[in-house]
Amino acid sequence: AKESGESHPAFFEASMGETAAESFRIERELRAGIPRGELRLFLQPQFSASGDMVGAEALVRWQHPQRGLVAPGVFVPIAEESDLIVELGIWVMNEACRLIAVAARQGLPLALSVNISPRHFRRPEFNSWVREVLDRTGAEPARLTLEITEGLIIDNVSDVVAKMNELSALGIRFSIDDFGTGYSSLAYLKRLPIDELKIDKTFVQDAPHDPSDAALVETILAVARQLQLKVVAEGVETAEQAEFLNSRGKVVHQGYLFGRPAPADEWMARWTAKAGA
Ligand code: C2E
Ligand code: CA
Ligand code: CA
Ligand code: CA
Repeated sequence: AKESGESHPAFFEASMGETAAESFRIERELRAGIPRGELRLFLQPQFSASGDMVGAEALVRWQHPQRGLVAPGVFVPIAEESDLIVELGIWVMNEACRLIAVAARQGLPLALSVNISPRHFRRPEFNSWVREVLDRTGAEPARLTLEITEGLIIDNVSDVVAKMNELSALGIRFSIDDFGTGYSSLAYLKRLPIDELKIDKTFVQDAPHDPSDAALVETILAVARQLQLKVVAEGVETAEQAEFLNSRGKVVHQGYLFGRPAPADEWMARWTAKAGA
């Protein structure tokens, strides 16, 4: 087998250039595949500058019966065009909360981040789905971070604020994913219950050599300091990138340098052994 999560079966290779017929086929196969249990949860660890594992991001994969492990870049955008993204999103949240609860029973404070698609979040039932998953799994809300994007926040702000406040009151945390790639207005950061900013990997990777990316990273860190937000850098691949970040501020690292996404059960077994549970 290839490296976890990095296999791209030829059939699904052209993630951007799918024809309508291919997209339709992927949608149909995914719709049938989710109830058959074909989704897989992968986890990628996040580390503090001192090397403590402080959490992990949940990243979905699709174990296709013929085509092997399919990356989310191929099927998440297609799922996002219909309510399939709701089904997928609930499955991922359920798995993540189940793992949080399993870890907690072993005395381990596992914190997981889950990607939330705007289409899923905008559904009126979103908050009740989240509460239902928390109730059923027994996961502690404070161990769950929802990663949303700036694009979500831009439209229908009052509805988004109300929903976020309600979930935040339960203890759920919010992170702005791909921060810096969307709109430039920062006013919403004060209005919304946001706990964390995630610096997109394009900035992280270029910052050591590109002065404008470096300035952007420094600005994000300054904003985060002002508003007392946690910062996670994604896509850290080299020691040079990690050192650059550490020299500029307090940053949690996520990237291939520290660990690739791996199947959740493998990852949990390894991690609980290391944590001495
Ligand atoms: P994202 O949320 O920005 O996730 C980070 C992506 O960067 C992941 O790709 C991760 O594997 C990859 N990555 C992590 N470290 C490194 C690194 O050091 N170098 C490089 N080059 N890449 C790194 P992945 O798992 O293929 O996911 C792609 C996108 O698919 C995610 O981007 C997210 O937008 C979406 N996605 C993944 N899982 C879910 C999910 O459960 N729900 C939703 N709605 N979207 C998801
Ligand atoms: Ca993410
Ligand atoms: Ca990203
Ligand atoms: Ca993203």
